[in-house]
Amino acid sequence: MGNTLKEKIDEMKNWLVEIRRTIHMHPELGFEEVETSKFVSEWLQKFGLDVKRGMAKTGVVGLLKGRKPGRTVAIRADMDALPMDEANRVPYASQIKGKMHACGHDAHVTILLGVAKFFSSIPDQVKGNIKWIFQPAEEGGGGGRIMVEEGVLKNPKVDAIFGAHVFPFLSVGKVGIYEREGLAAADRFTIKIIGKGGHAASPHVSKDPILATGHLITQIHSIVSRNVNPLESGVITIGKVSGGTASNIIPDEVELIGTVRSLNSQVREELKSRIEQVTQGIARSFSMDCRFDFEYGYPVLVNNPEMSKLVGLACSKGIGKENVEVVKPSMGGEDFAYYLEKVPGSFFRLGCRNEEKGLIHPYHSSLFDIDEEVLPFGVEMFIRIIDQYLELEIT
Ligand SMILES: [Zn+2]
Ligand SMILES: [Zn+2]
Repeated sequence: MGNTLKEKIDEMKNWLVEIRRTIHMHPELGFEEVETSKFVSEWLQKFGLDVKRGMAKTGVVGLLKGRKPGRTVAIRADMDALPMDEANRVPYASQIKGKMHACGHDAHVTILLGVAKFFSSIPDQVKGNIKWIFQPAEEGGGGGRIMVEEGVLKNPKVDAIFGAHVFPFLSVGKVGIYEREGLAAADRFTIKIIGKGGHAASPHVSKDPILATGHLITQIHSIVSRNVNPLESGVITIGKVSGGTASNIIPDEVELIGTVRSLNSQVREELKSRIEQVTQGIARSFSMDCRFDFEYGYPVLVNNPEMSKLVGLACSKGIGKENVEVVKPSMGGEDFAYYLEKVPGSFFRLGCRNEEKGLIHPYHSSLFDIDEEVLPFGVEMFIRIIDQYLELEIT
């Protein structure tokens, strides 16, 4: 692959920035990406792709059928923003109060459009098919699961899938790869400790759920340290505790809400059953009742090691081996996991950090922003991955 690719990408740089800023200024939440999905489909149509709309409500799928037969490769972007105000004072800041692209999904959409622009300009060189998946609601809505259920990986059947997330902890120009597990299973639990309310001065005739909750919190935090193999990973965080109204009242009940993260199903089930056992044990020891609800969220994201190797190899050709890092899994969640449950593929990181420009804030921060150099960079990486997988030998 020679200079032509770099030149073509350089030529689209301003266009990429414009696309990204347009999306950034008009953020939409999960399953409400109406304008974004319209914008995406219009571009895909302009590029001459087969476009399908309406999957998982606002999802868009584009297909480029190569002139010669071959395998089908899919790439995926998420389109949703977050319910928060943007604090950045930039000309392209969010124009919608209470909504912000603070996770970089605007960049993901832009990068995929850039890849579509490139391949649609060289249809004669494509063998096999390229499918573009733009899904709604990654931020908790599980848009990816619905896209899979509605058949996005069929017609034509997808042989391999690739996805990426911009990564503010890695400098722009670098790629991070997970060999296998990349992101955690992210589940949620709700506990109710049901005591008996009464006057704070007569605790002996009531059952104080606040005291029981104190013991419960301590005991829950012994699970990861005492029940999980130290060589495995797990996180339990209780994010909300609610109960009580005044200093002189013992409340009837206390509710706790938390999240559980794990990198394999064995630890996942172990954490679930231990939290339940500990809750029941604590409630029993205080002669109280309890309720335990566990809600399974996104599964563990498991890359196919061969496909991760392919990503590393393809990216190295453009940026050198020294700029491709194998990174440790994160305990965050990502609904790309649903695609990887069905077809081999790899999910990787695109560095978007630039300390000199002050672009250092983590995602979901009201100050999050990307170095826009990640846009042409991301386009190049995806093109190289597709080139490698479909054996196109683009020059
Ligand atoms: Zn996010
Ligand atoms: Zn995200």
